[in-house]
Amino acid sequence: LQVTVHRGAHEVGGNCVEVRHGSSRIVLDLGLPLFQADREPHDSSRLRALSLDGLRSEGIVPAADGLFLDDDANAPDAILLSHAHLDHTGLLERTKPTVPVYASRGASKMMLAGKVFARQVELPRERFRPMTAGKSVAIGAFTVTPYAVDHSIYGALGFLIEAGGESLFYSGDLRMHGADSEAMQSLVEALRVKRIGTLVMEGTHLGLPSRESRSERQVAAEIATHIEAAPGLVLASLSPQHVDRLAAFYEATRSAGRTFAVDLYTAFVMHLAASETRLPRPTAENGVRVFLPLYHRTAAKQKQLASLVALLAPEPIGLPEVLGNPTRFVTLFRESMFDSDYGGVFPQQTLLLYSRWSGYLDQPAWNGLRKELDASSGRLVEVHSSGHIHADDIRAFVERVAPERVVPIHTFEPEAFAAFRLRRDEVARNDTYATTAR
Ligand SMILES: [Zn+2]
Ligand SMILES: [Zn+2]
Repeated sequence: LQVTVHRGAHEVGGNCVEVRHGSSRIVLDLGLPLFQADREPHDSSRLRALSLDGLRSEGIVPAADGLFLDDDANAPDAILLSHAHLDHTGLLERTKPTVPVYASRGASKMMLAGKVFARQVELPRERFRPMTAGKSVAIGAFTVTPYAVDHSIYGALGFLIEAGGESLFYSGDLRMHGADSEAMQSLVEALRVKRIGTLVMEGTHLGLPSRESRSERQVAAEIATHIEAAPGLVLASLSPQHVDRLAAFYEATRSAGRTFAVDLYTAFVMHLAASETRLPRPTAENGVRVFLPLYHRTAAKQKQLASLVALLAPEPIGLPEVLGNPTRFVTLFRESMFDSDYGGVFPQQTLLLYSRWSGYLDQPAWNGLRKELDASSGRLVEVHSSGHIHADDIRAFVERVAPERVVPIHTFEPEAFAAFRLRRDEVARNDTYATTAR
């Protein structure tokens, strides 16, 4: 197996790994980078608007032969997507439409919801090859077995890739402290038994100060405690695609005797995931009401969303009903709603449960919102846990799986892997395996 890390060898996000055996080639993930060389965040909307040439001139297009629309060389056999986050999927729309795309059904659903509501990348139906966790598929000379992994989005997979008597496991993004940590321990044991040759392992948290180390279960318990004790309206700020977190909010809302009021985006995610997860369908009988924030009600959006409104919000709830009965609701909140839907005022004693990456709170928009909350005797409480494996767990994962070599990915600290004990006490240096790593 010849492994080339086109991107992600020494940065968080923008993963792209090519695996070659003989004339067979597959590409694992195809992300837009999250960070520029100076580690300032990229503006993903700006990158999405660039032409392929423009992206090339900024060094953002991976050097995988024949993959992109402007490259005449033979295309790889397939693209495998680990999950629907843009730093793993963002360049898909630039690739040749003849290349099949393997992903979980969950990932394809999250990409659909992200496409409709969050300007994310589409997975064209005719290219999609659904994968089921535990079921191997043959792609060229490879046997690929997907494994469900826990991450902050529904439908994430890791991939075991075998060919010519060799094996590689690609972690994608994952964590051990999620809602089903036992399943992740079982994965580690399964990989240990397989005696993996190469482990391509995410290391987001290596070298980062750990601002919190709560488990997803602890976060769920905190959400429940806060909602139970809240004196007024509760606003929930979270990514609906993080289905475990969404379920925690829903369950806490119901056990506090409140109704969960969600926007159409969140209702669509609940609709898509209801058959496969503990989330219910977004109906009034299930204690869910759907509202249409102003950005869903522009003329263009109304036309685009008409069938979803008919399906999921035939009788939408209005914000005045929520604001008039603040202790009866927990309501999904996005910062863009504050001016357009709340008229720039929070109800008295609002509790805003902030359940996203804390870095966004340093941005000017959130500074303003916190002042407004203070002004109305409200407060913001952070209830969050990272979607990425903690540094201690990375070490335990690597040492337990005991591969022959580790190829770091999705990390600013690839050198930190050198301290881990491996089967042959050997850690591949990035440049050995990443002939074109940027
Ligand atoms: Zn990622
Ligand atoms: Zn991710």
